[in-house]
Amino acid sequence: MGGCHFVGGVGVSLLFVGLFLSASGVSGCAFTSVGIDQPDYRAQLDFGPPETVKVCAVLDNGITQENAQKTLAGYWNETDAEKYSLSVNIVSYSHKERPLSEYFSWQIADDVSRMPVPAFCDRVMYFVGRNLADALWSIPEIAGAPEVLGWVDDATMARGFVVSRFGSLNQVLMGLWFSPSQAARHETYHLLGCGHDLTLQACYDKIRDAKALEAALERAGCYEKADMQPFLPAFPNAGNIALLTRAQVNSVPSDAGIRGLDDFVRCARGADLPVDDRAESDVAHLSAWLSSQLMQPLPPRMVTR
Ligand SMILES: [Zn+2]
Repeated sequence: MGGCHFVGGVGVSLLFVGLFLSASGVSGCAFTSVGIDQPDYRAQLDFGPPETVKVCAVLDNGITQENAQKTLAGYWNETDAEKYSLSVNIVSYSHKERPLSEYFSWQIADDVSRMPVPAFCDRVMYFVGRNLADALWSIPEIAGAPEVLGWVDDATMARGFVVSRFGSLNQVLMGLWFSPSQAARHETYHLLGCGHDLTLQACYDKIRDAKALEAALERAGCYEKADMQPFLPAFPNAGNIALLTRAQVNSVPSDAGIRGLDDFVRCARGADLPVDDRAESDVAHLSAWLSSQLMQPLPPRMVTR
């Protein structure tokens, strides 16, 4: 966020000031937070019925499914899920060994930013293990070199990585403060569209809107008509827009055509949702549309007793 473009992302989240900052000419990201909880404001919002954010996990060597589950889903589901009726569900695991060419965080980030979000997932998270070379980083760390423990891509905020195992000096020293689970929780907020801020207020609005948008688009049958799986909208860090479909996320960074998007756009417009030809819409317009939707009765098939 702003000055935090250390590896090109918001993601810059959890790093320690030092060499890299001076080398890349940015500042101010150390110990950055996604914001302080505002329980009173949060209590006024309606987050809707319980939902899950479906995450596809990609595991580096040495990271087990249990480890990923504990780091990302276990911790969030214990500490934050209830606040938003939104739990993290890891729905698939795949394996990808981190090649030796990916040593620095920006090298990992570059790779992660090209990972597609599979049809049954809302987000992708790469769980990075530790190798011998990382342990050697402890030597420059003594001199104050930083370390990135997690990252989410600015362009979509739908893909990220988290360092899922202790192994460096920083993590050992800072273990109680920045455990892998705490780093993962921070990145989960980014995956839900939240940036770095003083308070979580704007973040709550994003989480509520994402859930409500997915529900409304599902009700309007827009995913179905476009032959797409439902998708928890993602909020890129720049531009104040929402990505309503997985296809849009996967079209970044390539400019490949987006299959099914025309049908989706037609359906969304039919439901009075203000989207352009790329299914993009200003977040403020989407919020206004959501408020107008709340005034309308649900279609009969959605009524339950
Ligand atoms: Zn961050």
